[in-house]
Amino acid sequence: MTSSPNEAPASLHRPESRQGKYCEKCIELQDMADALEDYISRTNEQLLKSEMSDMELEQIFSACADPMIVIRDDGIIVRANKKMLEHLDCCCENVIGHPCSELLSKEECQLVTSRKKGSQTDIEIVDDNGNVTNYIMTTTPLITLDGTPGTLAQYKDITDRKQAEKALEKAHAAMERIARIDGLTQIPNRRTFDESFLTQWQTCIEQNTPLSIILCDIDFFKRYNDTYGHQQGDYCLTRVAQALATSLPGNSNGLVARYGGEEFIFLLPHLSAEEVSHYAERARSHVEQLALEHKGSDVAANVTLSLGAATTVPHSDMQAQHLIRAADDALYQSKKTGRNQVTAVEFTG
Ligand code: GH3
Ligand code: MG
Ligand code: MG
Repeated sequence: MTSSPNEAPASLHRPESRQGKYCEKCIELQDMADALEDYISRTNEQLLKSEMSDMELEQIFSACADPMIVIRDDGIIVRANKKMLEHLDCCCENVIGHPCSELLSKEECQLVTSRKKGSQTDIEIVDDNGNVTNYIMTTTPLITLDGTPGTLAQYKDITDRKQAEKALEKAHAAMERIARIDGLTQIPNRRTFDESFLTQWQTCIEQNTPLSIILCDIDFFKRYNDTYGHQQGDYCLTRVAQALATSLPGNSNGLVARYGGEEFIFLLPHLSAEEVSHYAERARSHVEQLALEHKGSDVAANVTLSLGAATTVPHSDMQAQHLIRAADDALYQSKKTGRNQVTAVEFTG
């Protein structure tokens, strides 16, 4: 139905109540539209915030000075920071989405997939040129971006610290060695002998087995120095020490040390008096065979040794020092009765 130009439109002739309801609906719709707009704007804001925070996280992850990698429990790498890519010497495409077994060592993969909470492990990585890098690898379980469980692995480069530790260990070992070895002859020193003697003494008491000492003294060594000079005397001491070291019985816990000046001492566990006598004679002979000229000696044309050997089966009532005294007495006998010879005794306490 149409209306003439002077007539009001039909809608305006609606009853009062219908028009009111219509307006209410309009207001309701307008409120809903406003609420929807508000909701969309808040969602967008949250989305933006979430994106920003993801970007921020990515920046922090990338800026981290230590290599970091996120690996899913099925072994697939899902995130790696810049340092990690440098460490692997790979670009992002060859890392993300690849199994960790392609890029990490077996040990690293096991650590990552074992999902030990907060575990820290020392690992050593050797590159193709043989360069060694040491890391502490810290693994922390997490939920990855796609909602599946995984592990964050962080690498802390501790190569400098490890190298310093190794240098310190080396220096310590060198100092230990210096403290136990005679500087001139390079055989064990008296300190080493004293320690070993007390240890062996106790062991032999416990095992009821024999222990022997051989004291050796170079004959007329003062005259050797007087004839050939102190430096040649030092050389002679070194040669004698080497000869004595080769006289030690193999497969024994034996030891030969410089006891002081031109004196040397053997410590020989588990040997009979006869065997000790044999090794003493062997040592004497080895020194004689060095054929070091000694014009000042009254007993031979070359450098010679006098030796005193003492053997006992130690027991708790005995004093260890008495065995050394017995060997010293035997040495005195060797000196007194002609030098360049062995005197061997069995010591019973
Ligand atoms: P004997 O046959 O009775 O043992 O006489 P000896 O001359 O060997 O004994 P003595 O105790 O009279 O002299 C030992 C010498 O050893 C004196 C000392 O100068 C020398 N001597 C000790 N230590 C060293 C050393 O480290 N280097 C050198 N060159 N000589 C040393
Ligand atoms: Mg002497
Ligand atoms: Mg001497």
